[in-house]
Amino acid sequence: MTPELQGIGMTSRRTRSRMIQRLREVGITSERVLATMEEVPRHIFLDEALSHRAYEDTSLPIGHSQTLSQPYIVARMTEVLLRHGPVSVLELGTGSGYQTAILAKLVKEVYSVERIKPLQDRARDRLRTLGLRNVMLRHADGGIGWADKGPFDAILVTAAPKELPRDLMMQLAEGGVIIAPVGEEKQILTQAVRHGDDFEVTQIEPVRFVPLLAGVVR
Ligand code: SAH
Repeated sequence: MTPELQGIGMTSRRTRSRMIQRLREVGITSERVLATMEEVPRHIFLDEALSHRAYEDTSLPIGHSQTLSQPYIVARMTEVLLRHGPVSVLELGTGSGYQTAILAKLVKEVYSVERIKPLQDRARDRLRTLGLRNVMLRHADGGIGWADKGPFDAILVTAAPKELPRDLMMQLAEGGVIIAPVGEEKQILTQAVRHGDDFEVTQIEPVRFVPLLAGVVR
């Protein structure tokens, strides 16, 4: 670990433990998820001006009208995902890279697509700082997925499509799961498990994400 990271880590350890305590209180039970979120510094995924708020259980702006998801939501989505024991995961919406980093600690291969280039560049630097080498990033409209790296055991969508993206779901392996916030004004965190050409859909809970948008920003 670089001295710089270590220094910040020391000052934030206590607030990070408090965040984990709060996640337990609101119902996160996966010890693997809790331990990983205790280990990964969230403040390095934010601009310096906001880093003092990194361990509050709230979403925070990362520029380009996008947000770093609330810790509770990151924990919840990761907990649901791990129940399916995925080896390879496709993430749509790298954003700050925080969720990507959590995934990279818990599964073998992470593929993450982001449509806004400057966000992707910053995320790449942070993931490198953390020494995470099992992540591949792509600058593209995630709606097309990443066919040549699939099929994936899981797809995690961190921006809200209006409905489940059926084309993309064909990049899931048999038994694979997609987890996505689905809807517009009202969104529901939804999971769908692939059985051949059919999907077993389960609604998890109401959520609030930025919308999944088309096209790329350079
Ligand atoms: N997991 C991220 C969430 C960032 S917000 C984090 O916690 O930091 C959602 C992200 O999805 C934004 O960065 C946004 O640019 C990206 N996004 C939205 N539509 C997309 C699309 N079609 N393809 C790829 N990324 C998309």
